Amino acid sequence: MLLVLVHPAWARDDSVIVLGVGAQSSMGDVLATFYAQPVDQGRVVVMMLGASGVLMKNHEKVALIDPAGMIAGDSMQALQQLDILLITHEHSDHFSYSAVVSIQSKTGAVVVANPGAYSSLSGAVPSDKVIEMRSGDIRAISGMTVTAIAAVHESVEPLTYILTFSDFSVFHGSDSGFNAKLADYKDKARLAIVPTGGASPTASPGSAFSMIQALDPSDAIPMHGTTAQYDTLGATIAQQAPNVQYLRPSLMASVAVDELPNIEFVVVLASVLSFSLILRTRRHE
Ligand SMILES: [Zn+2]
Repeated sequence: MLLVLVHPAWARDDSVIVLGVGAQSSMGDVLATFYAQPVDQGRVVVMMLGASGVLMKNHEKVALIDPAGMIAGDSMQALQQLDILLITHEHSDHFSYSAVVSIQSKTGAVVVANPGAYSSLSGAVPSDKVIEMRSGDIRAISGMTVTAIAAVHESVEPLTYILTFSDFSVFHGSDSGFNAKLADYKDKARLAIVPTGGASPTASPGSAFSMIQALDPSDAIPMHGTTAQYDTLGATIAQQAPNVQYLRPSLMASVAVDELPNIEFVVVLASVLSFSLILRTRRHE
């Protein structure tokens, strides 16, 4: 039986469901839960690993972004299908050389990296399995489309990405500040995962909200920030962009159910702190 958590703030249209896997879960357990989660066409499952780490899948592809060193050792064995591994930049809370080499070797995933991370990976990962991208590049990779857009951040050509699956599109904002170029990508991402601050000198709730305004996604998930920063972004969205659904993995109350309802759109979030999963559903519009 899955533990299902429902937060009142997300229940306004009775379509938001949160799955929890327990506070003591290991990364291996979290990965096992992610892979076991069914996902039909038109749905996406998103698992937040902490910092800017995101694992997501649709009905055919699995993608991992900025896992840093969070998947290592025993948990590496829990990795199953992985089609693409995206690295936004070479800072250690986003990129671990040894983890990328191990994950790529275990899964065969294609690695996509900014010039700073690419320079250390070339030679360590088979040359047909690692791709360097620069701002403005658009590439078809492993049945998905990857768009690279410059991050506002101090490293070697850091990137943010729009990852387009066959039926879903996601923006990942690394730990970037706001790049006005994002306005060129309006409506290109249905879901925006945005950095709110934390240890980043460039990310903030204000810049995260600017990203949301520029991209105009249906849904937004905060990452790379503190609880207070998540609160600030949530309040701004509620006041100034109420059409955007704000999904955050905290402040949950719980109920238990035996099976999932019939749904068309799913987002599962897990934070490393709570190891909770959020399952969100949406009806056709
Ligand atoms: Zn950084």
